[in-house]
Amino acid sequence: MSDNDEKWRSKLTPEQYHVCRERGTEAPFSGQLLHNKESGVYTCACCGAELFDSSTKFDSGTGWPSFWDVLDPTKVKLITDHSHGMTRIEVVCANCGAHLGHVFPDGPDPTGQRYCINSVSLGFEKRDG
Ligand code: FE
Repeated sequence: MSDNDEKWRSKLTPEQYHVCRERGTEAPFSGQLLHNKESGVYTCACCGAELFDSSTKFDSGTGWPSFWDVLDPTKVKLITDHSHGMTRIEVVCANCGAHLGHVFPDGPDPTGQRYCINSVSLGFEKRDG
């Protein structure tokens, strides 16, 4: 195991490690932030980078926190993912490489994008307004 793996294993829960560092997926409707409607910023659970604004969160009905945009396009990397017999676009934290989820082109206006993100990959910082 690399030093980097050790660092993440000590910092993350086993489920967070599996999702963020091994590109896993949490069970749908299990995430603590799924129904969070407070104003604030969603951060990377691994490195704290600010990723999504609460104003872009919507209820997609999928069971995962969903956003129609990222806070800033430089905050994430989009990677073509051919795993599980599908072609999907993986969303990764640009700062630390954490697996966040996938983005699909069936979201609401104004972007038409649906960033489907694991709750355990996220932290939340409450902010007024
Ligand atoms: Fe990160």
